[in-house]
Amino acid sequence: MDSVARGSEDLKSKVIRAEENLRYLRGGNTFIDEGKILGMLESCRDASPQRVRDIIARSLEIKTLKPEETAALLNVKDSVLWEEIFDAAARIKRKVYDNRVVTFAPLYCSSLCVNNCAYCGFRGENSVIERRRLSITEVRKEAEMLAGELGHKRLVVVFGEHPSSGADYICRVMREIYSVKVKTRRGCGAIRRVNVNAAPMNEEDYKKVKDAGLGTYQVFQETYHPPAYSAVHPDWTVKGDYLWRLYSLHRAMAAGIDDVAIGALFGLYDWRFEVMGLLAHARDLEDFFGIGPHTVSFPRLEPAANTPFVKDSAYRVNDADFKKLVAVLRLSIPYAGMIVTCRESPNVIRQVIAMCTQRDASSRVGIGAYSERTQEQEEKIQQFILGDNRSLDEVIRELASLGYITSFCTAGYRCGRTGDNIMTMLKSGREGCFCKLNAVLTFQEWLDDFAGEDTRRIGEGLINREISEIEQRSPSDFSPEVVKAFKEYHRRIKNGERDFCF
Ligand code: SF4
Repeated sequence: MDSVARGSEDLKSKVIRAEENLRYLRGGNTFIDEGKILGMLESCRDASPQRVRDIIARSLEIKTLKPEETAALLNVKDSVLWEEIFDAAARIKRKVYDNRVVTFAPLYCSSLCVNNCAYCGFRGENSVIERRRLSITEVRKEAEMLAGELGHKRLVVVFGEHPSSGADYICRVMREIYSVKVKTRRGCGAIRRVNVNAAPMNEEDYKKVKDAGLGTYQVFQETYHPPAYSAVHPDWTVKGDYLWRLYSLHRAMAAGIDDVAIGALFGLYDWRFEVMGLLAHARDLEDFFGIGPHTVSFPRLEPAANTPFVKDSAYRVNDADFKKLVAVLRLSIPYAGMIVTCRESPNVIRQVIAMCTQRDASSRVGIGAYSERTQEQEEKIQQFILGDNRSLDEVIRELASLGYITSFCTAGYRCGRTGDNIMTMLKSGREGCFCKLNAVLTFQEWLDDFAGEDTRRIGEGLINREISEIEQRSPSDFSPEVVKAFKEYHRRIKNGERDFCF
């Protein structure tokens, strides 16, 4: 047995507690019934235009769709109906989240990994990758660069699966990042929200990371199709245990983490099956815990160093189908945030941004890549190759010129609007009101502290339009007291004060 396999076997015995999954099985079965999903995709092939429009109408009421409804949308052939679906997806996004786009950056902390996922540059047996784990001092340097130079307020910290990057290391990383404060042009830069993308844990470890200030916890199933899952995740690895991953977010919620994120890596199996899998996942979380995922991610396979699997996959998703899957996800789980990332090219992002709520920008996906490396040095340290390398300033300028306000707001979490609470507000459209105010305030902070001249000019124009809109909205959205407090906060931010929120 080689050292990668030995490491995985060791970790498996330490981490996996299969008994923690048992309470979620129904008659010994999981929420993914492969035969049933395939059967539904087959039997819902011929929905009439009226049936499709009825499904769209249900989704516009911010109702999670039933599997047979999503299957019907996935089978639409008529291009006119697809245009109606795209239009409805954009309307739902606006109804729930208004015109804001939240931005974040990934921070890769460790490329050491005992798994061997066929599609990943960091897989244990890929010898061309330079591997290491950031020291806590290096984590700080990265966070200082992100908060002080780039102006990010929200990170997703990413870890390979390895004994050296377990729950204790994750907790130290989070605490260090939250302690960073960097002087900026007019105020102070800080990371206010640390989301985590890390391997599934047991309940004991989840409690530790929750206590350290965990934001959203992401685990992507990669593929929901069990045979496709086994084909790319060797069974001798920790990740080879499909069930351990499938119920990772159930265990997280049982441990008290009420803000979780699901995702699939599109390109490992048929994209329609994966959409059905994501919906089944959201519905099962709703059934058990009364709340679904806060966000849904839909990364596509991207090339990585020495990783031939990617170009050989028979299930790669083209741009036209990508747009369709984003729209059907938007309609199927209408309350959820939807994250498009820099894996995609600027052009593809432009095609789907109206349906999405979050994107990353100025991202680097290598270890130490923000503070230590130039872009040319990155191939040997990154997990995959990015499609959008534009700076945060360029991205924000483009979003603003398209009428989207970039939000750096993290207030919802800090004011207790999470879990059950936020789900109710999202479904009723109330969260969008708080968010609009906070988006303007945090956008103003960013413009003052980080924006280039052109971005600032375009951004200020957008802020002025947003303020007029807030003033003209009905008192049931914004009472006169709230508008007054908002304008006062805005004035104080322009004078250099920071971190006001609703
Ligand atoms: S996808 Fe994650 S678990 Fe799999 S090899 Fe890459 S870093 Fe490791």
